[in-house]
Amino acid sequence: MLSHQQNKSVSSIVPCDTYAWFSQRAWVEIDLAALSNNILELRKLLSPRTQFMAVVKADAYGHGAVSVAQTALKSGASWLGVATVPEGIELREAGIKAPILILGATYTPEQVQAIAHWQLQPTLCSTKQALIFSDILEAINFDSSLQVHIKLDTGMSRLGTDWQHCAEFVQLVARLPYLQIASIYSHLATADSLDNTVMKLQHQRFESAIATIKDIGIEIPCLHLANSAGTLSDKSLHYDMVRVGLAVYGLYPSVHLGSTVELKPVLQVKARVTHVKTIEKGVGVSYGHTFISNKQMRLAVVGIGYADGIPRNLSNKMQVLLRGLKVPQVGAITMDQIMIDISAISDVQEGEIVTILGFEGEQQITAEDWANQLNTISWEILCSFKHRLPRVNPKIKK
Ligand SMILES: *Cc1c(COP(=O)(O)O)cnc(C)c1O
Repeated sequence: MLSHQQNKSVSSIVPCDTYAWFSQRAWVEIDLAALSNNILELRKLLSPRTQFMAVVKADAYGHGAVSVAQTALKSGASWLGVATVPEGIELREAGIKAPILILGATYTPEQVQAIAHWQLQPTLCSTKQALIFSDILEAINFDSSLQVHIKLDTGMSRLGTDWQHCAEFVQLVARLPYLQIASIYSHLATADSLDNTVMKLQHQRFESAIATIKDIGIEIPCLHLANSAGTLSDKSLHYDMVRVGLAVYGLYPSVHLGSTVELKPVLQVKARVTHVKTIEKGVGVSYGHTFISNKQMRLAVVGIGYADGIPRNLSNKMQVLLRGLKVPQVGAITMDQIMIDISAISDVQEGEIVTILGFEGEQQITAEDWANQLNTISWEILCSFKHRLPRVNPKIKK
């Protein structure tokens, strides 16, 4: 039997006092009140009968799946989306009863048994896969029908059965014993783009596929299509449910979708100054001496590095916040430590807190800032923080 122990993550968010986080060199702060606010705000865009699935795959985009799922369910989400079977089991073992859709592919007998045992709900994309599910459920004498979700490929070219030939597949699944179709869904490839041509095409294909399925007399209880970008951009994509990841965590899929609702970033990354020193003009800093001081300057060493999830490609490019000011990072980012230029601030002490990502007063450094500098997307930045950083909720006091 599969268990989440196989890839166990440290996903609970601890109140700050219990983790003695004040003695930590670096940590991730998770603001669950902001998460709750984001879901309430996003729900305002939806018709009351549209359900909200909080996508909590990849340990809730690095935020801690169990705490995020519990908060999301209290704040108006009624479904959870994960990528893998162990991610679903982790939520069930934490006592979460809400329906959980596995967005990724599952097809081995072990996965089917675990899905049945833990009452998870799989995504089905092919006849072969549907037959495996039906056979295994028969072999284990499954005592009811497994709720399954049919995924159509309408233009993402990832998981899904081809939208043009989906009717035969849906009919086959509808006739198989032990399986019950809970929903039909598809996924948008370009919903965050300013150019909505492909999104419109996918929407049309989805509509046309649903029409052919209805024509053969099959009742579909639930339809869903929108990710964060689809949810923010167009009400006609909402259908019976939206599947929201990034926006739940307080980030916008793209700048032009930023005006629809007020979202608050949930995650901040903090670390402490561990050492302070003065260096003379012409002195090299860190591996490779990629930074050489052009004057006498003061440096602080901060206890966080690429092994915690700061991309090494930000070396000599990133800034951090200290006492509400942006200060530059200098030299190569190392595994566990970075150096910052504190010449502009007097009397910096060991133990002071530096904001690596987040806000101090008027200033902020966002995952989008890093994504732009690195030519990637904020989703990847959020998922990059390692579990060596404890997740703490600064608002919970014991
Ligand atoms: C990850 C994922 C989502 C959520 O995407 P966001 O852009 O983070 O909102 C929705 N649906 C599917 C199928 C996904 O894999």
